[in-house]
Amino acid sequence: MSKIIDGKKISGEIKDELKKKVEEMNIKPCLVVISVGDNPASKVYVGQKEKCANYIGLNYLHKHFDSISDDLLVKEIEKLNKDKKVNGIIVQLPLPEGMDETRIVNTIIPEKDVDGLTYLNAGLLLNNKTTMASCTPKGIMELLKREQVNLIGANVVVIGRSILVGKPMMNLLINANATVTLCHSKTKDLEKITRRADILIVAIGKKHFITKEMVKRGSVVIDVGINRIDGKLYGDVDYDNVYSKVKKITPVPGGVGPMTVVMLMKNTIEAFEKQNG
Ligand code: NAP
Repeated sequence: MSKIIDGKKISGEIKDELKKKVEEMNIKPCLVVISVGDNPASKVYVGQKEKCANYIGLNYLHKHFDSISDDLLVKEIEKLNKDKKVNGIIVQLPLPEGMDETRIVNTIIPEKDVDGLTYLNAGLLLNNKTTMASCTPKGIMELLKREQVNLIGANVVVIGRSILVGKPMMNLLINANATVTLCHSKTKDLEKITRRADILIVAIGKKHFITKEMVKRGSVVIDVGINRIDGKLYGDVDYDNVYSKVKKITPVPGGVGPMTVVMLMKNTIEAFEKQNG
């Protein structure tokens, strides 16, 4: 078994599984991605989604607005909500400053919320009910499953409490019977906590924040961080130094990132299936 958790390879396998499934479908599921403004990172992420959707054979529509008011964007989403041909809708975040992300995201009906970010879907996850889970944490769960990492009773430390990553990650892990500690910027003695982790999941957004001293020998480390510096990508974990101490680790790039994209496609197919009985 490999020490590096190869998200690129695993996501490639899932992509092929999904492609095969979609080939057998008479009607192809349809994903709509909405973007506003000119955030360079968002452009890259939207491009990756389009490429993946095309590969799998989904119907894909990208609706881009250079700028738009909250009210008009809400109307656009309401139209997509009613459109029977559309199965999944996501709004690429972050939206330009001043826009009400919470209102806009929560305009998407939960059945089409393939990012799992609406209040209803987040609440269902909290209650351990079947729902559309947010793509990055869902991708991490899939990585851990395919790498046969035991979660039952495992001591898992998650750093970061965002709605997008940390909180849904915590809920998915608790639902899978892990013992979870959620840390954030106000956590005291962070190193003491991380050193106890059988599995450490880091979603902070600070280059090489996690050092060798902060991890337990033989643990599994999942690096969610994407830090773009001078055109190069870095994780939140000091990979080169941490590598020798741990049992398994995700690289950046090529770890969690590719899983996020493919989980969006999986959620779209699942949404289609639910909508069509
Ligand atoms: P976010 O909303 O900025 O949240 C960052 C979290 O990190 C916050 O909860 C913050 O604590 C915590 N934090 C910051 N500094 C800390 C410190 N010194 N010690 C402990 N906790 C600290 O970010 P996000 O959206 O969750 O994303 C996190 C990272 O993951 C980013 O690099 C992002 O680009 C990346 N990401 C990657 C993927 C992927 O597919 N690979 C997907 C999504 C995000 P407070 O709450 O106290 O401020």
